[in-house]
Amino acid sequence: METGAYETRVLGMVRWPRSEGELLEFRIRDASGGPPPPPPANPGNTFVPAFALPAMAIGEPLIINAPVSGRLLRGARDAMDLYQRWWDVKPAEIVPASTAGPTAAADGVGLFFTAGADSHYSLLKDLRRAEAPGHREITHLVFANVLQDDGPDHERLLTRLTEVARETGKRLLVVETNLRTLTEEVVGWNEYHGAALAAVALACEGVLGTCLLASTEDYGHLSPWGSHPLLDPLWSTEGLALVHDGVETARIEKISQYLVHSALALRTLTVCTHSEPGVNCGTCDDCVTTMIALEIGGGLGECATLPRSLDTELVRHTRLRTWAQSDAWRELANQLATLDLPELSDAVAEALAGADGTTAWRPRFQRTTL
Ligand SMILES: [Zn+2]
Repeated sequence: METGAYETRVLGMVRWPRSEGELLEFRIRDASGGPPPPPPANPGNTFVPAFALPAMAIGEPLIINAPVSGRLLRGARDAMDLYQRWWDVKPAEIVPASTAGPTAAADGVGLFFTAGADSHYSLLKDLRRAEAPGHREITHLVFANVLQDDGPDHERLLTRLTEVARETGKRLLVVETNLRTLTEEVVGWNEYHGAALAAVALACEGVLGTCLLASTEDYGHLSPWGSHPLLDPLWSTEGLALVHDGVETARIEKISQYLVHSALALRTLTVCTHSEPGVNCGTCDDCVTTMIALEIGGGLGECATLPRSLDTELVRHTRLRTWAQSDAWRELANQLATLDLPELSDAVAEALAGADGTTAWRPRFQRTTL
């Protein structure tokens, strides 16, 4: 680990059973113009969430030649039990060089931020609760560049993130890491992304004492997923608390009831995973779902990053492939039923009628038992 003029580097050598060593790196910079943050006291902590699931996937122990937090080791065993229950992979033994002594928590409170609906909602919630007794205000937005994007598209996204940080009085930390590349052969991103973000947060332990991960699902619709309210806190150490945030509100409501009232969110909302960084294609299922939720909340015409009106033909022909997606669209249909938008309502109903057979409707009371 080293602190240069512009960035802090947390480095580790990874040796898989049958390959040469590969360098794992986290390069952390304060994109708000501040000095690079202090390095973590125990960089070995990052290896626990980073490689617990990969070690389980390949059936090997995880040997870490560095001290590791005792709380994290205990949490990791519970996390592996959860993974086993969810995905039928056997827990791996974790062998650290030693148990690390206690470290003091840094003052910073981070939020992983992509300018998507979930992280925008968590940021708005923080601003809304600023005056609430006991509230610990977010100090840093954290962008984890796990796809190792660069170039003009990536710069456009960074400009947008910088704008949000500046307007809300937060600092922006940008973390470049090759963690996803190193592990993608053995673990899928859906199952793994929360642990990967936990590793990024632990690389920032020198500046963050708390770090929030914005939820994908709400309490009524939780299912096994790589970032989850049962899982994320298990990657906490004595010095850093990982918090799964925003699970009280469904994504549709995050958009239709909260984001529509934020000029900043409407100017910077970035939801598309089918296009270049920082661009919403306006036609994929992510974009269309967001646009319908914005329309329900009366904010679509104000959103600068998406088409200002909905093409109902596009809505009609949106293919809903997953149960979660169909469930979100049923919620859209429920909300549309209370509004005078018959054409859009019909188009959503038609898309739902054509949803894949595996996404058949289930009574709401059964959902939490799946
Ligand atoms: Zn899109």
